[in-house]
Amino acid sequence: MTAGARPAVRAGAAVAVLATAALVFSGGGSALAAQSPTAPAAGRQAAETVRGSGALVGGTLVDGRGGPPLAGAVVTFRDGIVDCVGTAAECPVGELPVLDASGMWITPGLIDGHVHYSQTGWADGGPDQVGDLRDRYPYPRVVAENRADPDRYLRAYLCAGVTATWDVGGYPWTWDLARRVENDPDAPHVVAAGPLLSARDHWLNVPAERQFLYMADGPTVEEAARYLVLSGASHVKVWYLVSESAPDAAHYQEMIRVAAGVAREAGVPLIVHATGLWQAKDALRAGAAHLVHSVSDLDVDEEFLRLAREGSVSYNPTLTVFQGIQSFAERRFDEEAIDARCLDPGTLAKARSTAELPAMQDTARVARRRAMGRERYQVMVRNLLRVHEAGIPVVTGTDAGNTLTLHGPAIFAEMEAMQAAGLSPMDVIVATTANPARAMGRTDLGVVEPGRAADLVVLADDPTRDVAAFRSRRWVVRGGWLHDVEALRYR
Ligand SMILES: [Zn+2]
Repeated sequence: MTAGARPAVRAGAAVAVLATAALVFSGGGSALAAQSPTAPAAGRQAAETVRGSGALVGGTLVDGRGGPPLAGAVVTFRDGIVDCVGTAAECPVGELPVLDASGMWITPGLIDGHVHYSQTGWADGGPDQVGDLRDRYPYPRVVAENRADPDRYLRAYLCAGVTATWDVGGYPWTWDLARRVENDPDAPHVVAAGPLLSARDHWLNVPAERQFLYMADGPTVEEAARYLVLSGASHVKVWYLVSESAPDAAHYQEMIRVAAGVAREAGVPLIVHATGLWQAKDALRAGAAHLVHSVSDLDVDEEFLRLAREGSVSYNPTLTVFQGIQSFAERRFDEEAIDARCLDPGTLAKARSTAELPAMQDTARVARRRAMGRERYQVMVRNLLRVHEAGIPVVTGTDAGNTLTLHGPAIFAEMEAMQAAGLSPMDVIVATTANPARAMGRTDLGVVEPGRAADLVVLADDPTRDVAAFRSRRWVVRGGWLHDVEALRYR
């Protein structure tokens, strides 16, 4: 993925429209009223005229870098790129079409730093997790459907205010997806690692495509890592499921170093799934640039923090994904807790059918998993705070695609969990904008400043007081194109 790539603009964009035509809102209260499904025509007109070029005027700007918000801000953008951020005097809007954001909040578009487009958000896409439903949902069919129609997930992301996503492991077609949507104002950016190198010879593949490349021996790993970088992998990902005491631990320690060597030579960062402290430290020693999950077995120690700081490593806690899998095991789907209107009807129907499935047979196992999940959650929360306080950049990522971690609206629960863990709302915003942009090598995204992509969210509520304010989003701008959130919803 090319850093600094400019989101292109669709033909016919940037038609100059009288600025007064889009003076929609005059304050927080009326803004809420204006955004009902029966919004006045002027609101619709704004969404139809701010295309590639335009201006957001009068909102309070949170730029993604963590500094104090700017009240009465003006953000102008041309051909999908921000060209001025400041006061009305500093940024004349001229002939640009304008959205009046008075009384509202403007932030960078959110970035989900851990997703899998090869998975559905339900058990049919992850028969290896909990509840194998392959008799009803044959896995090759599920994969073929995902490949044919990832657009339903792309729309759900935009609907949730997510304008960029980092796919940290999946089938090779996710590379093509990343290229296809890069300049599409109706989809978030996709950065894709592609198939992952695995310390387990995992069966979850389809006949002609693999998402797991087993690290059998040195030459195999070298060839696989070369294949990844030649194919355009944004990152080389290793699934480092190795136990310290396992007889083959030394073998996989060697294999991750072989992969790291190829990645380093190619200038492609190594990212690692390592949820144990021993594995995580070993991954950092091998040269990992990013950890895609929390350390969840033990509290991180000084050595871990030192290695992470020295390696300029970023850390993705994925606090909530286990809860989704667990709620599936308990046959619960809490539709109220997510913005289910962003979900396509098929995905929502599957999620709803969770409650109708026969209960899991092994109730003791379900209870054990629940207890273990709670215990691990406490470790993850402590580690998140220690990592954050040590100055290691935290990257928000949901692991969406896993069972009941739903593409798009899963971002809200994850951000709220990070805030509940003790990060300030502003820290969570930075972790969901500037930090993932940097971690995934897209410094053209994630911050509202001249020269970066015009990817923005407009909210009714103040996100610096509570990140639940992202549930109040009204408008999403992608590549300078304004989307009314109501129009992105399915119902
Ligand atoms: Zn994942």
